[in-house]
Amino acid sequence: MLTHNLGFPRIGRKRELKKALEAYWQGEISQQQLLQTGSTLRQQNWQLQADAGIDLVPVGDFAWYDHVLATSLLLGVVPERHRSDTDTVDLNTLFRIARGRAAKGKPAAASDMTKWFNTNYHYIVPEFAEDQAFVLTDDFWFEQIAQAQQAGVNAKPVLLGPLSYLYLGKSVTGQHKLALLPQLLQAYQHIFDKLNTMGISWLQIDEPILVLELDESWCQALAAGYRQLQKGQLKLLLASYFGEINHQLPLLASLPLDGLHLDLVADSSDIAALDQALPPHWVLSAGVINGRNVWRSDLTALYRQLAPVYQQRADKLWLAPSCSLLHCPVDLELETALDSECRSWFAFAKQKCQELALLKQALQTNDLSQIEQYSLPVKARAQSARVNNPVVQHAVTKLKTTTTDRREPFAVRQQAQRAHFKLPLLPTTTIGSFPQTADIRQCRLAVKTGKIDKTRYQQLIQQHIQLAIAEQEQIGLDVLVHGEAERNDMVEYFGELLDGFVFSQFGWVQSYGSRCVKPPIIIGDISRPQPMTVEWSRYAQSLTSKPVKGMLTGPVTILGWSFPRDDISRQDIALQLSLALAAEVQDLQAAGIDIIQIDEPAFREGLPLKHSQWQPYLDWAVAAFKLCCHNVRASTQIHTHMCYSEFNDIIEAIAALDADVITIETSRSNMELLSAFEHFAYPNEIGPGVYDIHSPNVPTVSWIKQLVEQAATKIPAERLWVNPDCGLKTRGWNETRSALVNMVKACKQLRSEL
Ligand code: GLN
Ligand code: ZN
Repeated sequence: MLTHNLGFPRIGRKRELKKALEAYWQGEISQQQLLQTGSTLRQQNWQLQADAGIDLVPVGDFAWYDHVLATSLLLGVVPERHRSDTDTVDLNTLFRIARGRAAKGKPAAASDMTKWFNTNYHYIVPEFAEDQAFVLTDDFWFEQIAQAQQAGVNAKPVLLGPLSYLYLGKSVTGQHKLALLPQLLQAYQHIFDKLNTMGISWLQIDEPILVLELDESWCQALAAGYRQLQKGQLKLLLASYFGEINHQLPLLASLPLDGLHLDLVADSSDIAALDQALPPHWVLSAGVINGRNVWRSDLTALYRQLAPVYQQRADKLWLAPSCSLLHCPVDLELETALDSECRSWFAFAKQKCQELALLKQALQTNDLSQIEQYSLPVKARAQSARVNNPVVQHAVTKLKTTTTDRREPFAVRQQAQRAHFKLPLLPTTTIGSFPQTADIRQCRLAVKTGKIDKTRYQQLIQQHIQLAIAEQEQIGLDVLVHGEAERNDMVEYFGELLDGFVFSQFGWVQSYGSRCVKPPIIIGDISRPQPMTVEWSRYAQSLTSKPVKGMLTGPVTILGWSFPRDDISRQDIALQLSLALAAEVQDLQAAGIDIIQIDEPAFREGLPLKHSQWQPYLDWAVAAFKLCCHNVRASTQIHTHMCYSEFNDIIEAIAALDADVITIETSRSNMELLSAFEHFAYPNEIGPGVYDIHSPNVPTVSWIKQLVEQAATKIPAERLWVNPDCGLKTRGWNETRSALVNMVKACKQLRSEL
């Protein structure tokens, strides 16, 4: 029996790769220095895994920016606009594709980036030209393997499989992607041949698209493809992850493979039954350690599940994390600030490798003493008072039978709100945050490090609120915001104020390229010891006679951008958050805040990978949102905000949220996203974004007018709001001011014209 790993975090224990990449892009270090950092990191990661007891170490999983992009370079898939004059493909080509830099003096947009399945990792979408050729081009992947071999690592190369690679890319001409498969398979054949000459024994070939509901043409192409590839001496371990693939097992079992990796964390199927479904001479790689969470595993429970399978399959059973450890933080040992109880509940990438070795030892020796000892904190966690709050548990049970609807239907609320606010046609507003200046950041840092006390901090933030309110009045906006100066991040801010969360110091996970996130960790039942935003909003409202919108992050988004617990359902965590947010909403209303926005930018991200499982998710996600605000007065106006969304296939759920106003990102799609609302005859009010906040460009009055006019052809002007696409925290004040002045001007003109 072997332990192996599907992939290891590339960023380094202290984000060394991030720092090196950014220094290189700034011209502060040479390419040689960057290459050296990468080489050292790989070496360290291999050593760390081997020391932890991993028998077969993944190699080739390292990438400078993204492993899908690395595969594109390996296969010579480089968009024309990113090619250099000499047509050489090198590291800078890769960065141009990812970051949208010009190669031939002309600006060249970056390739699209999108979410890697249901994780918060983003990959660069391959672009296939008409009759795209696939020619092995970049040697970096092979160099990694050679480096590992030289270092004496027991290397198992990891490669994204041809079907998933093709599926995840886009054909720029609209040509059916499967037409490119024969060419692509030839390139993969060359890779196989080369690995054979390098003396590689096992290749892990990832086909994560297996978890999707693929249509027949893709299933057939996958089978034909793997039947056609000549593997020589090479043994193929096909890897799938992020969900169950029971629907594919009969097909897969008929292919000339040597093993299959299954995600047994996301898949609750019976391991023994899966074992039966695979040919007996195959390796079954059991992905039993959660590769995308931070929890210590109950190894004794895993032992019990695996022992019968081990008896059957013996050394054809391998142990692995459920997926690549790319999606979890690197090393718990760095977390010296966590209390020891909490620390004992966690395992990061390095510790997960150690767990595999412990589990293997127990299975081989039937000596459970070590794993029993190891699993004690998992059992202690289940009983801990920090985890269990009976009041919250009871309230959640009750919440599940509560009606989620507001007391009055939208039409009644709309009347009450119109009478209450007396807003003009096309009311103007913003999405919440104003520029996070260096000044603001310093304030927050100063209070965190104890340089200033709470009172001083409050004064300073109030000054920023004053500034934001004065600016907005000057600009002439109709509904104001306090500006979110106190927020480091829209999820972390709430996590820090809620019970049930803890924070790591170094728990970074790669999001895209050099960007990492450090998600809060939900450890226990969630409750709100005291109001979280009320004082800031009340203060802002005291400065103006215009309405000020309260600003909250919704339950689905807080959940989606945190590490969730593994002992209760996502639905229950979301409902606990709803309870806390509902109390906040009540307090805001009582403090005279009559417009409250509940942001849900991660609403769509939470959708399950399989379409057939969407509805149950949508049902509880909608309920979680509504339960935050179902008890407010008719005249209290609830807003929600979603960006980066596509609405067509979830419009029913969006309508079911029944927010009085929804603001969305639409400017880049030229109001196209509104069509979903139009066709559904969406009844409530909508604020389609009229300018892209990702760019410093100031939109002109006529540009904004034209967009609003376009919007008014889809949604009656009486139900339209006007606002930017998203929050303005990444912008500077100058461009923000000019853009909003133009936005208000455009609306004033339109009010008399429409
Ligand atoms: N209210 C938040 C802001 O303005 C919304 C951010 C988001 O949608 N991602 O910053
Ligand atoms: Zn947004």
